[in-house]
Amino acid sequence: MKNSLVELSVNALDRISRKRKPSPHRSSVRGKMSAKVAGAAKVPATSDWDVLRGAARTCKACPLYKNATQTVFGEGPLKARIVLLGEQPGDAEDLEGRPFVGPAGRLLERALAEAGVDRARCYVTNAVKHFKWKPRGKRRLHEKPNNAEIAACRPWWQAELKLIRPQFLVCLGGTAARAVFEREVKVMSERGSIVKTAWAERTLVTIHPSSLLRIPDSEARHREFARFVGELTLLAK
Ligand code: SF4
Repeated sequence: MKNSLVELSVNALDRISRKRKPSPHRSSVRGKMSAKVAGAAKVPATSDWDVLRGAARTCKACPLYKNATQTVFGEGPLKARIVLLGEQPGDAEDLEGRPFVGPAGRLLERALAEAGVDRARCYVTNAVKHFKWKPRGKRRLHEKPNNAEIAACRPWWQAELKLIRPQFLVCLGGTAARAVFEREVKVMSERGSIVKTAWAERTLVTIHPSSLLRIPDSEARHREFARFVGELTLLAK
């Protein structure tokens, strides 16, 4: 059954694509977290999630709001045990105004299901709340947010996490990990182990599911998908 699900995922991927262990030092993470970043988003002092989301809609703390359709805030139960932190909204998310609703989000959902984790019980959000892109013909191509944009947006996901206080925080990809650990994280060498951070008793670094969509070789995609699922099973324990 599991294999067939993987097959399903990878087949879906095929269609779509046609087209040192973590060593963050807790103390240093905590130290940097309290540091104020010039130009960072101004977040209202509230424990009301609706107020937070409403304020994020008008954020102009970095230039990314200019070319995006809307702010894409996190969503999910506010008592979630698990928070999944991605990079930024993609094309579909930008249009729909919800996180992880495009191809990478569907793949994440399949991987979570295989790992025995119900996505509906997770809170999903991004390190950067506006879609950064560049035009290529009629398409909008994803562009990685830079350090200043990641820093400017940090107060938003931090406010979400202060509210939710999850047991588990999952950094999906390098941008999310950079936002949390405030240093460059080499995901491929640091993925898969769990450390304590100021944000969660257990923080896991793994890949962003969109990276699976970019693997051209089917066998490698299978292998990487299975590895991703294996890491997500840590959340079910
Ligand atoms: S990306 Fe973040 S910091 Fe920049 S304008 Fe959007 S919400 Fe504000």
